[in-house]
Amino acid sequence: MINPRVSLLKKSTTLKITALTKKLLKEGKDVVNFAAGEPDFDTPEFIKTAAKEAIDRGFTKYTPSTGIQELKEAVAAKLQEENNLIYSKDNIIITTGAKYALFVALFGLLDFGDEVIIPSPYWVSYPEMVKLIGANTVFLPTLQTDNFKINPKELEKVITAKTKILILNYPNNPTGVTYSKQELFHIYEVVKDKGIFVVSDEIYEVLTYDNKKHVSFASLGGAKDFTITVNGFSKTFSMTGWRMGYLAAPSDIINEISKIIDHTTSCACSISQQAALAALRDKNWKDNVRAKFQERRDLLLSGLSGCDKLRALKPEGTFYMFCDVSRTGLSSFDFSTKLLERELVSCIPADAFGKEGFVRLSFSTDTQQISKGVKRIKRFINNG
Ligand code: PMP
Ligand code: GLU
Repeated sequence: MINPRVSLLKKSTTLKITALTKKLLKEGKDVVNFAAGEPDFDTPEFIKTAAKEAIDRGFTKYTPSTGIQELKEAVAAKLQEENNLIYSKDNIIITTGAKYALFVALFGLLDFGDEVIIPSPYWVSYPEMVKLIGANTVFLPTLQTDNFKINPKELEKVITAKTKILILNYPNNPTGVTYSKQELFHIYEVVKDKGIFVVSDEIYEVLTYDNKKHVSFASLGGAKDFTITVNGFSKTFSMTGWRMGYLAAPSDIINEISKIIDHTTSCACSISQQAALAALRDKNWKDNVRAKFQERRDLLLSGLSGCDKLRALKPEGTFYMFCDVSRTGLSSFDFSTKLLERELVSCIPADAFGKEGFVRLSFSTDTQQISKGVKRIKRFINNG
């Protein structure tokens, strides 16, 4: 009865554990939430005000399916100013979250049997989307010894005549690593003449630390012609529930794939689009958010530094810390389940990201909670 490709899908572990954590907190349990895939603070007031005004003036109807013109122009201006990408509004589609932008990009390009290269560890939804579409996943393991970065030589080896897409995600969920311009250029050199598309998920771009600059893959050489850049408002502006994302691509691709929006969601939420427009007009929020998360990263990292059995990778971006827990002798799943049961600390087991022996700790919580969580993790490890 059920579409066999749907039966193949796994539930999202990140959403499942996030929901469980929220339920426990609501029940009054003193859980330290290191599972969260969303910022802990509220959506900024200036964004909420824009949404309320949109409702009050009746901006509550369908919009053009690819989004309102002002927002698409604002996204194009942002991409030019911050990402060195020259696009017009005709290169942009506003979507119901970045997740749907990814789905539209993949569904728009892939045919049955096409291969999609997914560097692993990977964010949970990429393989499931590819499976749902009926294409084939080809995992490209990245190694701890390479700091979990794509090795261009290994990338070259997995490209076949059937390869259609390479998915890039940096700063990376779950590893927290990001790429310099030079590192990206090595990847560009491998893919540029192969007739492959790159879907570049840059949703964590603002959370790039230590004064490093985020570089968009599409800004390298001729990459713009074969890259779909995906981004959104969920992480930067704490707007996960508003469902606001976008993609930027060559206009012939936009013309084709916008038909998917026409016949599925019709358009993204009109009120959220006005909220997103207000978000893009702001100039200070991003720096504040970055500084706050970097401070939290440093606190969590120094707190865990003496811990022999848990080795944390220093995040270069995102609000995720990838930790090797293999020395505890527990699997990722057992580590995270027991940590929640015994010490009320939630985190995500990295088998969900295709990597056994690791867990993902989110530092999207305040400094007091981080300190409390560190103490509990250490106690959990010391008590074996
Ligand atoms: N890409 C990555 C890597 C993510 O972690 C998320 C988080 N949900 C998304 C895309 C999608 O974000 P959203 O749909 O909330 O815009
Ligand atoms: N992307 C976040 C995470 O990885 C939120 C949950 C989800 O969309 O998967 O936890």
